[in-house]
Amino acid sequence: MKFILTKELGRLAKWLRILGLDAEYFNQGNPSSLIIQALREERVIITRNHRLPKARGIKILVITQGQLKSQLTEVLEKFSIRPNPELMFSRCTICNLELEHVDKRAIKEKVPEYVFNTQDEFFICPRCQRIYWSGTHWKNVENTLKEIGSL
Ligand SMILES: [Zn+2]
Repeated sequence: MKFILTKELGRLAKWLRILGLDAEYFNQGNPSSLIIQALREERVIITRNHRLPKARGIKILVITQGQLKSQLTEVLEKFSIRPNPELMFSRCTICNLELEHVDKRAIKEKVPEYVFNTQDEFFICPRCQRIYWSGTHWKNVENTLKEIGSL
């Protein structure tokens, strides 16, 4: 299942990506472009906007909660998604692209020395070239998921 989130849900989009879900972010104002992209890419629209035009073949989840954690719970429950630890951090949180393995030696200059010395697996976003490693914010994510009861 793929998603597209409207502009007021940027943080939620980032969180869905952290969980490894394909979540595009639509930050323009034009609802018809949103509908077209959702149809073309078969994405479920997640929004807080009650007034989006209805269109045939489009699924829309209108988020009712204001807090990020409650919003995340709302999405996971609605679509019966259980976060898969193996998919977490497999996607760039900025670009939504899947990360690629990168040789440790190739990125020595791009990560803090401590990280280089303590981590073995590194990933890179093919678009923005941001480097990720397994330890990235893991504890933080784990704690949040425990709080909302999804892990
Ligand atoms: Zn990226």
